Amino acid sequence: MPKAVIVGGGIGGLTAALTFHHFGWRVEVLERSQELGEIGAGIQITPNGMKVFRAMGLEEAIAENAFVPRALEMRFGRSGRQIFEIEAQKAVVERWGAPYLHLHRADLVDTLRRLLLKRQPNAVRLDAECVAYTQTPEKARVLLDSGDTVEGDLVVGADGIHSVIRTQMLGAEHPDFTGNIAWRAVVPMAQLGDLAPPPTACVWVGAHRHAVTYRLRGGTLANFVGIIEREEWTSESWTEEATRDEVLAAFKGWHPIVTNLIEQADVHFRWALFDRAPLSQWVDGRVALLGDSCHPTLPFQAQGAVMAIEDAYLLAKLCSETPNDLDAALTTYFETRLPRTAQVQRASRGNARLFHRPTPLSRALTYGPMWLAGKVAPSIIRSRQDPFFAYDIREEPLR
Ligand SMILES: Cc1cc2nc3c(=O)[nH]c(=O)nc-3n(C[C@H](O)[C@H](O)[C@H](O)COP(=O)(O)OP(=O)(O)OC[C@H]3O[C@@H](n4cnc5c(N)ncnc54)[C@H](O)[C@@H]3O)c2cc1C
Repeated sequence: MPKAVIVGGGIGGLTAALTFHHFGWRVEVLERSQELGEIGAGIQITPNGMKVFRAMGLEEAIAENAFVPRALEMRFGRSGRQIFEIEAQKAVVERWGAPYLHLHRADLVDTLRRLLLKRQPNAVRLDAECVAYTQTPEKARVLLDSGDTVEGDLVVGADGIHSVIRTQMLGAEHPDFTGNIAWRAVVPMAQLGDLAPPPTACVWVGAHRHAVTYRLRGGTLANFVGIIEREEWTSESWTEEATRDEVLAAFKGWHPIVTNLIEQADVHFRWALFDRAPLSQWVDGRVALLGDSCHPTLPFQAQGAVMAIEDAYLLAKLCSETPNDLDAALTTYFETRLPRTAQVQRASRGNARLFHRPTPLSRALTYGPMWLAGKVAPSIIRSRQDPFFAYDIREEPLR
């Protein structure tokens, strides 16, 4: 049985372990942390991601602690006036073929971990920091900082935006700071009373900034993401704790649902948002990149993790079809995934402009037609999401 060594136990790496196992491989996930986990924040898993889990019989397990939004909604950040609200429950499944879920990241990682360990109890090695890879024509190896090596038929670099596997493959260069920073927080719904965010995936738009609110964990938690344009990121770290006053100042004068969420949060985290121009290469012999290591994406289309989930399925499927010709499998993987992920990266950047219209005139010209479409032809709004959510990696023509 061939073996995949997967560097990184985030959403991408754990999903890859499940997809490789599904297609008959042994797996070993190497995670540098002492335990598998995620930050206290929400994540939206859109129908194209859920189709991957469904293909492996995991849809129900993934949905267990989720919240299914009633609608996709857009509002003005200051007044709270609604621009559109389109139904998202039955209509999502009918149009895009699978549900749209809101999950707590820690719940998602815990579910992926449990599903994986049930299938292969020794699949995860913690406290295993990878520093390099080597390979021969027959095998690939990962070198750990402890001096150990781990060998397999394939190495998958799912080690995130600061990937050491990508750096070795392509040289050291930094992702691009996109001029946006994000704050994130999670608050128990019980604390929010009448100012609870609506049971929707709600984007609140404004000049040079926007916020996203939604509910998590069966509706018991509310999630807040606030994004603002900033010229530069002055800190060494790309993520750090922020003060409540700083977040409140950025959203001063906004609707009380937004400002109350900020006030009620115990902790706010701040992220510098990076992405990267499409890379010329994701593959080196028996080593392949996946997820944020090769295509970090602005979160404005809610697709970063979902792209890693799609990558994981195609990579494992192709490798299992031609285990004796991994070169061909990995080339097809790269050539098929590059245009898809580049399209999502472009759309995410485009949404930054769409959500941050700076002047009353530009807002009227953008949101007026959206308001009208929401009233008379909501399918126009839905159709903007078709290329992302209707996509099914199992049906993608290979390149
Ligand atoms: C504000 C915000 C909101 C977002 N919202 C969404 C959303 O709603 N939907 C969505 O799909 N995406 C969203 N994303 C994007 C999503 O979070 C990422 O695309 C996704 O988490 C990337 O997963 P990954 O597994 O590729 O990388 P990561 O999550 O970064 O995981 C990498 C793992 O590798 C480990 N690692 C790193 N280096 C090493 C090493 N040398 N050795 C061993 N282990 C190592 C790390 O510890 C980590 O566990 C959002 C992002 C942001 C910033």
